[in-house]
Amino acid sequence: MLDIKKIRKDFPILKREVNGQPLIYFDNAATSQTPQVVIDAIVDYYSNYNANIHRGVHALSQEATDKYEQARIKIQKHFNAAQPYEIIFTSGTTHAINLVASGFASILKKGEEVLVSALEHHSNIVPWQMLCEKTGAVLKVIPQTESGELDMDAFAKAVTPNLKLVFVNHVSNALGTVNPIEHIIAEAHKVGAAALIDGAQATPHIKPDVQALNADFYVTSAHKICGPTGVGILYGKEEWLTKLPPYQGGGEMIDQVSFEKTTYAGLPHKFEAGTPNICGGIATGVALDYMNGLGFDNIASYEEELLQYATKQLLEIEGLKIYGTSAKKTAVISFNVGAIHPYDIGTILDKMGIAVRTGHHCAQPIMDYYKIPGTVRASFSFYNTKEEIDTFVNGLKRAVGMLS
Ligand code: PLP
Repeated sequence: MLDIKKIRKDFPILKREVNGQPLIYFDNAATSQTPQVVIDAIVDYYSNYNANIHRGVHALSQEATDKYEQARIKIQKHFNAAQPYEIIFTSGTTHAINLVASGFASILKKGEEVLVSALEHHSNIVPWQMLCEKTGAVLKVIPQTESGELDMDAFAKAVTPNLKLVFVNHVSNALGTVNPIEHIIAEAHKVGAAALIDGAQATPHIKPDVQALNADFYVTSAHKICGPTGVGILYGKEEWLTKLPPYQGGGEMIDQVSFEKTTYAGLPHKFEAGTPNICGGIATGVALDYMNGLGFDNIASYEEELLQYATKQLLEIEGLKIYGTSAKKTAVISFNVGAIHPYDIGTILDKMGIAVRTGHHCAQPIMDYYKIPGTVRASFSFYNTKEEIDTFVNGLKRAVGMLS
């Protein structure tokens, strides 16, 4: 059981008002809020041991290096990666996916197939399209169903000996659907294909075990899990990270440099060129400590309660349609009311201090499937309350009344 009143006190931003009303933050799928312990870790770094890492013999550099590498180990343990060097710090999910896609340019051959799902964020579509343009590989798509789930019969047909790589999200950001990634990974492996899982929307609710999943790559962003922006996590199996070439060249990622020949550093540094977001990496470790302190089972069951509570009330509003009705979904509700444009609803809710997201949520193929320009998306976190949902539903009813 979570003590929500106490938890809310950990998040200073939840005390503020927006447009003269107490903030109700239901845009958690875009970015989670930041607890005081994470803010304190950032302040502590810049106040007490701000220094560049891995290259200094002086005390501050060593302290920063130790804390940064300890954060890597915290992340390794959280995801149950076999080795700390299988965790690569990036600037976000987008950077992590681009790193892998760019590496596959030297592996994929013309005519080989890669498979994406119809439920992806643009970050897990566009880098692969660019890869296919470069290599002549063929991009195939697992279609979606009306309920916002993957068409698994179509998936089965798409798994051929010519398939080299599958990339799907663990949870859809636009609909909240939890995808059957264990099955997808296992089937991909049967034909020798690798699987990359975009965990940006899963990691706020689920603690993934990358070894149990047998994922080849698993990626997420710190700002979705109570951490800072500008930090991403790439888990890659050692054998794949060894096989892929470096993404960027520069300091930190080298072993020896000469004009005749440069050799590269081992893992993880081979993929971490330049000065990283040191403070952000350390703060990400603190954010994971904070979430683990609450317990992911507690988080998931409380958010499920919020999801059921909100869904029931929203469905009582005439003309409201929810997109994404899978029984397996996280606390995300994407909806429209009749022909009202989602932006209009979002703008009126904002005047009431309620933050929801409106638009295509960087998932235009899903919007095209439903033939809509976008949706209103309310996404809940463990610090939200049923009282906030009541205020949101009442506000929405008023907005619909004004716009009808
Ligand atoms: N993938 C999914 C499923 C997401 O929800 C997001 C962000 O919303 C991303 C990728 C991109 O994450 P970032 O912008 O942090 O790189």
